[in-house]
Amino acid sequence: MKKVLIISLTLSIFALAFSMLMSVSDPIAPGGDPAAESPSAATASEAPVSSSPTVSAVPNAEYAFHDDDITVRVSEGGIINNMSMRDYLIGVVAAEMPASFEIEALRAQAVAARTETLYHILIFKSVTHPDADVCSDPTCCQAYKNDGELREKWGPAYGEYIEKITEAVQSTDGECLIYENAPIQAVFHSSSAGQTAGSQEVWKFSLPYLVSVLSPETAADVPNYVSSVTVSLSDFKETVLKFYPDAVFPKDKAKWVTDITYTGSGRIMTLRLGGVVVSGPVLRGMFGLRSTAASIKVGDKNVIFTTTGYGHGVGMSQYGANALANQGKSYREILTWYYSGVTFADEKDIIIN
Ligand SMILES: [Zn+2]
Repeated sequence: MKKVLIISLTLSIFALAFSMLMSVSDPIAPGGDPAAESPSAATASEAPVSSSPTVSAVPNAEYAFHDDDITVRVSEGGIINNMSMRDYLIGVVAAEMPASFEIEALRAQAVAARTETLYHILIFKSVTHPDADVCSDPTCCQAYKNDGELREKWGPAYGEYIEKITEAVQSTDGECLIYENAPIQAVFHSSSAGQTAGSQEVWKFSLPYLVSVLSPETAADVPNYVSSVTVSLSDFKETVLKFYPDAVFPKDKAKWVTDITYTGSGRIMTLRLGGVVVSGPVLRGMFGLRSTAASIKVGDKNVIFTTTGYGHGVGMSQYGANALANQGKSYREILTWYYSGVTFADEKDIIIN
């Protein structure tokens, strides 16, 4: 007998608190990788509001929900288009992960994206676009490309790639990730430096299914896995003072960057810039770093940041997912690798009330 999950809005208090904390979270979008085919990563960065659910009470929910049965309201540059979950997910998976990736990685991405979308529809409730469940801006929701954009992006490979992405979505029809009877925050990122970050490392809020785990991708798998940002001493000082006017930069440059502490996954937790305590994620936003798995060198002329991996580091690593798929792991094995303690449910198992 199928387990029936009851999602009520009151259940979402836990998620609500998390979302509110997310709103003061990662200051930069992990998307926008200069490499054209690099994946981006979802961040849920808005505060929630209460409004009625898109999918209202369904008297007989069993087998009621498949991707084609759910309408998602998608804001593209402020214009709201209603489309099926299936069509939306094809556009998300295509925008978020290179179509050249292994099919099991693409399936894992489809399930993560479906789960994140359900979370937005049922629990999160955007204040930025209250009339839409999601938008196509990866700094707010998940990246999404419509068919015209995909034809332009893929050119002659369009036919092959759209078939592959559609297969990844359709073969996982309706599957989502559940923790304690609710769709999880299935956040993801491009690549990690050896291990993923726990949610509390980025958002100061600990979720049991977003804990740090090992991630197998290496420089051999990931373009620009290790990269650096060089900032002149004057620009460095100016940037810090813009955010922290109390910072002081003495002649002795060894005192400009001090007291670096690291999280359990090896990312910068805090440091002092000009004597002022700054968190790793804020540092990342200030200087546009690809990750907080960073080292910093203050030289005679420049400050050089060297980073490993790309994105906030929480949840599924997309390049890690592809590396696991290459090792023969299935999409379900990939998902339970990155989202600890979750179970799989079909949308048809969910009743909204
Ligand atoms: Zn959005």
